[in-house]
Amino acid sequence: MATTYTLAIHAGCEGITREYYGPEAEQEHLSFLRKSLAAGRAVLDGGGHGLDAVCAAVEVLEDCPLFNAGRGSVFTHDGTIEMDASVMSGADLAAGAVAGVTGIRNPVRAAALVLKKSPHVLLIGAGAERFAESCGLEREDPGYFQTARRREEYLAAQKQAGEQFGTVGAVCLDGAGNLSAASSTGGITFKEYGRVGDSPVIGAGVYADNASCAVSCTGEGEFFLRRAAAKRIAAMVEFGGFSLEAAVAAVLDNIRTLGGKGGLIAVDTAGRAAISFTTRGMFRGLAWQGETDRVAMFGPPGSW
Ligand code: ASP
Repeated sequence: MATTYTLAIHAGCEGITREYYGPEAEQEHLSFLRKSLAAGRAVLDGGGHGLDAVCAAVEVLEDCPLFNAGRGSVFTHDGTIEMDASVMSGADLAAGAVAGVTGIRNPVRAAALVLKKSPHVLLIGAGAERFAESCGLEREDPGYFQTARRREEYLAAQKQAGEQFGTVGAVCLDGAGNLSAASSTGGITFKEYGRVGDSPVIGAGVYADNASCAVSCTGEGEFFLRRAAAKRIAAMVEFGGFSLEAAVAAVLDNIRTLGGKGGLIAVDTAGRAAISFTTRGMFRGLAWQGETDRVAMFGPPGSW
């Protein structure tokens, strides 16, 4: 039975204030959010699978140098770039993820290939790169991923402790009623050697299950890992009788209580979307079939 689709996206939630982003930068960022929604919509309007829609939406954000995923990822402690990404299909709980990849142009595509073509769920580092290459994925030199802004943040972080983060992601209920989710990130500026956050960890920064909802998170990954945030929301909806909105609010409250901050997007089987954050803003977008796209970046949650 055909349902109407819902697609939600995010592109990180750290430091998004009107003081930092003037009107011109705001329009520039919002235009990329619209492009991302359009790429997802193109798949869904053609009757495609939600998994392909979330990947298409995330790829646009990975290619954009403004967001912390793919091109424009933050620098590690060593001045390198190490990216993580994941995808999950709610119809069969199939999942794929990569962590610590350095040269794959679109890490989310590598994650989707892990889901589709390997017997594993999570591949890391050199092994993940080799797998992606064997599948014919496009590679880029380190210079492609590095932007002047991220280098400045890195140099500032060398002088004083401070965090810059951001992740991109998408969740979707497609026309066939299937839920899908994807996340992709460069992680946290100045992250230590080999550090992996929540984004490629199924159940922490990403989750999709047709029995409940699809979730993609952004924020301080360590807290989302400890709270098993995405899976916790799904469990609250499936077993706890919580509405999607209430489950999202409760888990973000948990994260805050633990001392962390962040945000997330979620969609349930009825096409309801919950988009919320504990920070001052979050790059976000929402597309319902037959309705005009909504995009926003400043708070409060719920405002467009
Ligand atoms: N959650 C990501 C990480 O910890 C960063 C982010 O979402 O901003 O790697």
